Amino acid sequence: MQAFTYTSAAARVIFGHGSLQHLVRETELLGAQRALVLCTPGQRAEAERVAALIGARCAGIFDQAVMHVPIETARHAREVARALGADCAIAIGGGSTMGLGKAIALESELPILAIPTTYAGSEMTPIYGLTEAGRKKTGRDARVLPRTVIYDPALSLGLPLDLSVTSGINAMAHAAEGLYAPDANPIMSLLAEEGLRALAEGLPQLAARADDIDARSRCLYGAWLCGTVLGNVGMSLHHKLCHTLGGSYNLPHAQTHTVILPHALAYNAAAAPQAMQRIARALGVEDAAQGVYALARALHAPLSLKELGMPYEALAQCTEIALQNAYANPRPLQREALHALLEDAWHGRPPA
Ligand code: NAD
Repeated sequence: MQAFTYTSAAARVIFGHGSLQHLVRETELLGAQRALVLCTPGQRAEAERVAALIGARCAGIFDQAVMHVPIETARHAREVARALGADCAIAIGGGSTMGLGKAIALESELPILAIPTTYAGSEMTPIYGLTEAGRKKTGRDARVLPRTVIYDPALSLGLPLDLSVTSGINAMAHAAEGLYAPDANPIMSLLAEEGLRALAEGLPQLAARADDIDARSRCLYGAWLCGTVLGNVGMSLHHKLCHTLGGSYNLPHAQTHTVILPHALAYNAAAAPQAMQRIARALGVEDAAQGVYALARALHAPLSLKELGMPYEALAQCTEIALQNAYANPRPLQREALHALLEDAWHGRPPA
């Protein structure tokens, strides 16, 4: 057996249908007297529900979270937190809202209580992102890892089916790449395979009935495990490509992950056979890349970069950006093969 290093980052997790009812207790356990509730403009109602639940312990609501955490929004939120004397940030929403909480915690060390409502998994990682002058920079810092996470599948019922599907496949991408990470370890690989299995079962169940709470629970459980993998081991080509496409061409996050994943897996298939076997086993299919593509197609998810609005002419430039500061990857990055990958993804062809 290979030697490995495993560092456990301890977050307290409260999981289950209706678990939001434990919010007051969890806020008290963090010692919070003045919590600032964070959300996007579209999730104001959920934030107000949180505020009502904690009553006098709520210092205010900041409802300006947006995708990729623009530095101006981060500065504004930090100022509001300071002015209100906040001693805790409660982030309710997806990766964008978690990202705003992290931007505050990075400077102030406020503890974050996260209440995720998508499957992006940011609540399980010490990774933060900030966008300044059109460039998104990411970093790792233990201060931004939420202290407590409440996973209540009832809160994801409002997530539209198309976004639920792409968000779920976004989560699967964390686990898939975690299985061939240079610093992979057996514990994270167990979580990755179980997370993939839960989502591969839960997503079709959801597609059949979007308000099926059992399906929602399964997907959220899978998202938790996959997010843990993202937070603990390094990511490779797939995440690099999605970061490039999202950052440079402003493509939507979860949808981009959905389109790229089958192609990134096909690119790495021969170089990471054991990881591919585990992905395929979790999905109950013969071939990992074809299996993810078939799942996305069956769930009516987008399959091409073209339909996400990526200009064809940008493929060459995207290839070059992906080659710069390349992440570690099982198969070396080759310009022509990478361009071919992007070309297949642009057209939405099955993975080669
Ligand atoms: P998001 O947070 O941008 O949410 C998408 C939209 O869906 C938002 O308008 C949001 O308000 C809405 N929404 C969320 N949950 C809902 C619900 N249950 N019902 C109705 N509407 C709901 O999208 P996302 O995919 O969760 O996050 C993407 C962002 O997170 C990207 O910026 C990505 O880079 C970042 N991210 C970071 C990490 C990390 O570890 N740092 C991990 C994953 C994603």
